[in-house]
Order: sequence, then structure tokens, then C-alpha cells
Amino acid sequence: MKKNGDLIVISGPSGVGKSTLVKAAMAQLPDLRFSVSCTTRAPRAGEVNGQAYYFLSEEEFSRRLENGEFLEHAGVFKHRYGTLKSEVLERIVRNEEVLLDIDVQGARQIRQAAESDPVIRNAAVFILIAPPSLETLRERLTARNSETAEQLEIRLAGAKNELSSFRIYDYLVINDDLEKAAGELTGILKSIRLRTANIREELFQ
Ligand code: 5GP
Repeated sequence: MKKNGDLIVISGPSGVGKSTLVKAAMAQLPDLRFSVSCTTRAPRAGEVNGQAYYFLSEEEFSRRLENGEFLEHAGVFKHRYGTLKSEVLERIVRNEEVLLDIDVQGARQIRQAAESDPVIRNAAVFILIAPPSLETLRERLTARNSETAEQLEIRLAGAKNELSSFRIYDYLVINDDLEKAAGELTGILKSIRLRTANIREELFQ
């Protein structure tokens, strides 16, 4: 094998249409695999343990954290989330493409991990999905009508924080028109496969 896989980090505030876009892009790129995160939040209707997330108790999450099992972890909207090293590292070395849907705190930690770990450094690419403006995001979240006024403000403040960190990402996709944004995301994901960074030295030997 002449190549390591890619570690694709995608962040975007809630309400931005990230899951729809990622689903559309993944339909074009069947080799991409989601990393299943751990969370302490309760499953929503239809979410299966081990597929949407590994749903853990607070105690189990803390135990794994102390064991050093997480590549990154963060508190998001009162719950804890974390990416298991076991979901990511061996798979990159097996030349698989792993996609992480994580928040900006997690993206920052992966950037840091990349500084000391060349496998992560060569594999990691960071993509931010953003709304055309904070005002549009407010309108979309209000229309969704799934949050209380207080929750809405918390989500918007979180979004503002996430979006102001846009420079830690390599790519920015603005979801103004869904079809256009899905096309852009698919294009980025296709070009990631062609980077030289994770091709092994022995390619032409
Ligand atoms: P939800 O609870 O709606 O599925 O996710 C809430 C937020 O948590 C999303 O912004 C998602 O990107 C983020 N998230 C999900 N899994 C992880 C993870 O493993 N690590 C981090 N840092 N954030 C995560």
C-alpha cells in the first residue's frame, strides 16, 4: 500500500444543513466512512447505539477519558462528546477515508495532535460549513421551531464562536444554495484524495 487514508474533519453550526450536505456528498463517494463518536446525551428517536453514536453514561465517558481512549473530546450544549482513537488511527493507516463530524473545540484539538503526530498531520483536512450570514442562520433555526428562545440564543452564540474560528479550517463551504454547496463539498472531498501529503515515500521506488 502506497498511501495512508484521509482524516476529514467537518464542523458547522447547528441549523446550517451540515448533515444534509454530508449525506449528499457521501452518496457520491461511497468509500467515505463516518467515525462513530461517543456522547453522554440521550439517543433521539431512531438513533441506534453504535451507529449514530456510542451512547455512554457519564461514568463510562470519564473512564474512557482517563484511559486515554479519546483523540479529542469536548462539551457541547451541556453534553460530552468524544472521538475514539480506535475509530480513527488504525483506519487511516489502512488507507481508509474517515470523516469526523465534530465541533470547533474538537477540530482545534486535532490540529494540535497533528503537530506531534505525522500520521494525523498528513491525513487531516478541515472543512467548515457555514450559513451565508448569522441572520440567515437565525431565520433557519427560528423556522425549525425545535428550540426554546433561550436555546436558540445559546445555539446562535455557539455558531458565532464557531464561525469566527474559520481560519483553523482549510476549506469553507457556504450553504446558500443546497445543490451548489453539495457540489462544492463533493469537489473538495474528491480533491483531498489527490493530495501528495499522505502518499508514502516508496511510491515510485
Ligand atoms: P448532536 O448532539 O446534535 O448530534 O451534535 C451536537 C454537536 O456535537 C454537533 O456540532 C457535532 O458536530 C458535535 N459532535 C458530535 N460528535 C462529536 C465529537 O466526537 N467530538 C466533538 N468535539 N464534537 C462532536
